[in-house]
Amino acid sequence: MKNKIKLSTLVIFLSILLINNVDAQDKVLINNVQIFDGNNVITSNGAVRIEGNLITEVSKIPLKALSGEKEIDGQGKFLMPGLIDAHVHLAWNLSPTQSTFAANEYIAALTLVEAKATVMRGFTSVRDVGGPARGVKKAIDQSFFTGPRIWYAGAAIGMTAGHSDMRSPEARSRQMGGEAWTDGEHSGITILADGVPEVLTAARMQMRRGACFLKMFTSGAVSGVYDPLDIAEYSFDEIKAAADEAKRWNTYLAVHSYNDKGTQQALKAGAMSIEHATLITEETAKLMAEKGAFLSTQTGIYLADAPADWSDNQKAKQQAAKDGLDNLFALAKKYDIKITLGTDLVGNMKLKKQQAYELTNRLKWFTPIEILRQATVNNAELLSFSGPRNPYPGKLGVIEEGAFADLLLIDGNPIDNLELFNNPGKNLLIIMKDGKFVKQIEN
Ligand SMILES: [Zn+2]
Repeated sequence: MKNKIKLSTLVIFLSILLINNVDAQDKVLINNVQIFDGNNVITSNGAVRIEGNLITEVSKIPLKALSGEKEIDGQGKFLMPGLIDAHVHLAWNLSPTQSTFAANEYIAALTLVEAKATVMRGFTSVRDVGGPARGVKKAIDQSFFTGPRIWYAGAAIGMTAGHSDMRSPEARSRQMGGEAWTDGEHSGITILADGVPEVLTAARMQMRRGACFLKMFTSGAVSGVYDPLDIAEYSFDEIKAAADEAKRWNTYLAVHSYNDKGTQQALKAGAMSIEHATLITEETAKLMAEKGAFLSTQTGIYLADAPADWSDNQKAKQQAAKDGLDNLFALAKKYDIKITLGTDLVGNMKLKKQQAYELTNRLKWFTPIEILRQATVNNAELLSFSGPRNPYPGKLGVIEEGAFADLLLIDGNPIDNLELFNNPGKNLLIIMKDGKFVKQIEN
């Protein structure tokens, strides 16, 4: 018996077949699997039926295959919804210096490579919180390339001397006859806007490009050149202008904000997704809960080594953000704030390989099942918050009848061992997105 199990495991391992952009099998039955439905493990030996791009049946016991249905024997392995990363920058794969000299088509090419790597790590959906994702998303949605579902904000809106201002301190602002287009704007990652009229124009430019939500920098940043962590960026009126514009488009404003002042101001102005927020006080956590805003958190960017070219000041800011994590997560739990999971890894593709480490990093604060919920149902709720600007309306982040068939079959139980995600090539046996196999086992 023992030998038999070993042999079948070996056969599966050897027969893993990577298939890209395979047409949807019209009808698929994944049988004999443990199912985590996004909230809980609902069965140790059940089945999921898929037709087209949707899950049509979830059973707590194995099912008989219907005629014309492709049956996959899951051999008791772990089936769960595809992971979602709520904070990425798919197009930000170069350092600021490299970006300055990069051609836009080179940036797009790297984005496509990173998009494929992302889905191969098990992330079937991402929220892109700043960067040019429009064309890449279209090419992926049309199945020309392999990649995740993408919700994008377009260029993130920032003020002069704010997080996105990478110009020389002597540069003249364009309102005073300076250069028309900064490097950040050229690459499409950020856009500079000062004052309510410019903020409105910048916001509307993103909506014209099909943004699913808006993104703005409303506090000092860890990697920023001119902005200390303690400052609130933008006036209340400028943030409110962006939040109101997002609301007019029936979507929401996400803000980059670390400190208490900037976060509180943004919440009062109507922002509904707070990115980072590691330096907030209890009063602001309470306000976030009252407003029903999402807390979009990352840990890996603070735990990772600082880039070699960072100044002591930037390194000190990274340490301060990291030191705030204990307090942030304690407050978020106390006030039952909606916590989402993101990574925010930028600047080079080697670093982005650590995307799945975000799950194991969180074990210091959360149980494995809480972390899996953050990466599935919680993140899906945030994605659906784009309302009519949600490019993929439907149920996501769950295994239930009528939900999108975005699924992972895992060789092992991640509730016992979240590290399984750190070796996706070996441990993710099936990756399915929109009913199509991105990676498939043959048995
Ligand atoms: Zn970011």
